[in-house]
Amino acid sequence: MNTCQDLLSAITDPSGREILDPATGEVVGTVHESTTADLDDAVAAARAAQPDWAGLGHEKRSEYLHKAADAVEGNAEALAELLSREQGKPVKNGPNAAFEVGGCSAWLRASADFPLEPEVLVDDESGYAEMEYVPLGVVGAIGPWNWPMMITVWQVAASLRMGNTVVVKPSEYTPLSVLGLVHVLNQALPEDVLRVVPGGGEVGKALSTHSGVDKIMFTGSTRTGQAVMRSAADGLARLTLELGGNDAGVVLPDVDPRAIAGDLFWGAFINTGQTCAALKRLYVHEDVYDAVCEALVGVAQQMPMGNGLEEKNVLGPLQNKQQYDIVANLVEEAKRGGGRVLLGGDPETDQPGYFYPTTLVADLSDDNPLVAEEQFGPALPIVKYSDVEDAIRMANALDVGLGASVWSSDRDAAMDVARRLEAGTVWINKHGAVDPRIPFGGVKKSGFGLEFGVEGLKSVAASRVISR
Ligand code: NAD
Repeated sequence: MNTCQDLLSAITDPSGREILDPATGEVVGTVHESTTADLDDAVAAARAAQPDWAGLGHEKRSEYLHKAADAVEGNAEALAELLSREQGKPVKNGPNAAFEVGGCSAWLRASADFPLEPEVLVDDESGYAEMEYVPLGVVGAIGPWNWPMMITVWQVAASLRMGNTVVVKPSEYTPLSVLGLVHVLNQALPEDVLRVVPGGGEVGKALSTHSGVDKIMFTGSTRTGQAVMRSAADGLARLTLELGGNDAGVVLPDVDPRAIAGDLFWGAFINTGQTCAALKRLYVHEDVYDAVCEALVGVAQQMPMGNGLEEKNVLGPLQNKQQYDIVANLVEEAKRGGGRVLLGGDPETDQPGYFYPTTLVADLSDDNPLVAEEQFGPALPIVKYSDVEDAIRMANALDVGLGASVWSSDRDAAMDVARRLEAGTVWINKHGAVDPRIPFGGVKKSGFGLEFGVEGLKSVAASRVISR
C-alpha cells in the first residue's frame, strides 16, 4: 500500500512543471511534459503490446481488470489525498475524492463483468449471420480536469476489456492524479497495455492525429471536441466525444420544495459545480418558485466550503484561475442583468486559493449569460415560468444536450415532460446520477458515442459480421 507521498515520489519529475494546489497555491508535485518522441514511444509500445493483450480473451482480461480494481482499493486513501490536493475536491465528505476513487474500482469491476456474446442476426432457411465485437487496436484517451481519475477509468476500462491497449493524455491541470492512478493500475496490468503521456493541448492534438491510434475517446469542452474531430479526420480514427453541457432542470408545480432541495443542491453543486452533467440552470413553476428558492438557500447555507484536506468541508475551490474567472464574470453579468442574488456572489479576494462562494441567483431572464452559457462552477441561475410549455422550450433552446431533469411527485407528468427534453439522459427527481450499467452520452453539441454498459463496450470495438 502506497502513501500519497510514495505516489508523488514515483510519478514526479524533479525538473518538470510545478502543479499547484488550487486551495493553497502550494506545490503538489512536478510533472514531465511529454515530447513528440515520448508520444511516439508510448504509441509504439502500446501497439506492440496489443496483439498479446487481445489474445488473452475476455475472461483473462476481465481478471486483470479485477486485479486493477484491487490495486485501486488497496491504495484508495493515497489516491484520494493526491486527487484532493491537485483537483481541490474534499477528501472524504460527500461525492468527492474518496467517492471518485471508489468510482474507479466500481467501473473497472463493472466493465470486467458485462457479458458480450456474438449477436445472431439471421438463423433460418435463408442462412446464418452473426455479429461479433473485436478490438480496434490502440485507443487514445484525452481527459479533462474535473473528475480526472474517474473519467480516465471510464475511457480505459471498457477499452482494455475489449482487447485494445490505451495511451492516456491527462489534462495539463490534473496530470498527477492520472499519473498516480495509472501507476497503481500498472501494478496489476501487463507492461505497456496502459501508457500515459502528460502534456498540454499540443500533445492531445498530436495524439488525435497520430497514425498509430485507431480510436480517440475524448472528454472535454465542445470547442476542443470539434478540434479533435478535425484532427482525427485524416486517419479516420473512430471517435467518442463526451463534451460540454448546460443541463436544465424543470420543477413542476406539484413538488414538495423542502423534500427535493437536498437533491437539487447536489445535482447542481456536486464537485463545486465542476461536473459535465450537473444541473446548470433551474426552471421553477411560479406556484413553488419562492418556496424552492428558500429551501435551496437553506440547504446551501449548511454546506461548508474550504480546503479539501480539512474534514468538515464538502465543497472545494475551483480547480484553476481560468475557471474561477469564468464563474465570477458570469455572476457579474447576472447581477447586471437584474438577477436577485439569494446567496453568495461576493468572493473574498484576499485569501489564497480559487474559492468562489456557493451562489444562487433568482429572477433571471432566459437569455442572461449565466443561464445560456456553461458556468462549470458553484453558481446556479433560477428562472421562473408559468406555463410548462415555456419551460420545455427554454430547456431545449440551447445547442447542447448532455443531461436534463424533471422534478415532480406525479410520475406520469414527469415522464411526459422527460420524453420531450432534448438530452442524452433525463433524470426524474435526481440529476447527474451515473451508473456503470447505464449508457451515458450527449446529443447535439454535447457529443456522440456512448460510454458504460454493453453499449460502452461496443463503442470501443469494431464489429465483424460473419455470414454464411
Ligand atoms: P478542454 O476541452 O479544455 O480540455 C480537455 C482536454 O483536451 C485536455 O486534456 C486538453 O489538454 C486537451 N486538448 C486541448 N486542446 C486540444 C487539441 N487541440 N486536441 C486534442 N486535445 C486537446 O476541457 P476542460 O476544461 O479540461 O474540461 C471541462 C469541459 O469538459 C466542460 O465543458 C465539461 O462540460 C466537459 N466535460 C464533459 C464530460 C462528459 O462526459 N460529457 C465530462 C467531463 C467534462
